[in-house]
Amino acid sequence: MAFTLPPLPYDYKALEPTIDEQTMRLHHDKHHATYVTNLNAALEPHPDLQKKSIEELLAGVDSLPEAIRKPVRNNGGGHANHTMFWEMMAPGGAKEPSGPLADAIKKAFGDLGSFKEKFNKACIGRFGAGWGWLVADRGGALTIEDSPNQDTPLMSGKTPVLGCDVWEHAYYLKYQNRRPDYLAAWWNVVNWTDVARRFEKVKK
Ligand code: MN
Repeated sequence: MAFTLPPLPYDYKALEPTIDEQTMRLHHDKHHATYVTNLNAALEPHPDLQKKSIEELLAGVDSLPEAIRKPVRNNGGGHANHTMFWEMMAPGGAKEPSGPLADAIKKAFGDLGSFKEKFNKACIGRFGAGWGWLVADRGGALTIEDSPNQDTPLMSGKTPVLGCDVWEHAYYLKYQNRRPDYLAAWWNVVNWTDVARRFEKVKK
């Protein structure tokens, strides 16, 4: 088996009250697990591709054999996105970014409040299922993007440093149809330490 489901880096209850335990159990143990299972099934006839990292597979998704292009895009994207998502959240982390990340956010968006507003707008505007992203280019400049389904900026050679899952499975049990309420609360559990770590890596 090429890929495995990473354990959640904290307890299922750890992000309450922002994200409830049942949502975390279903989201990690069922949704993410299914992406991993289906990704491995797609790669089963391709031992050479199983040796690649998930980032390599997704960066080159358009040149994969046609029969597995879509399953790798959907399930490999799902695996990469959710692995990041768990790490980019934490209970009781820093409430705001600091250091070079804070400077880059200020440079790109003015201040943290304006950044959050623009990010939430992109997440709310994403029709149906998808993700909102804070993306860094190689020079460390930040932009906001949103993507459908499990597509990731990795597929176009960019680096996501923060991502928010706006599929209904991420919030429906607690917030029902109120995606804006989920987004407003979500900032309480963003792990700015992890976001800063990802940003520092891009700049190297
Ligand atoms: Mn999800």
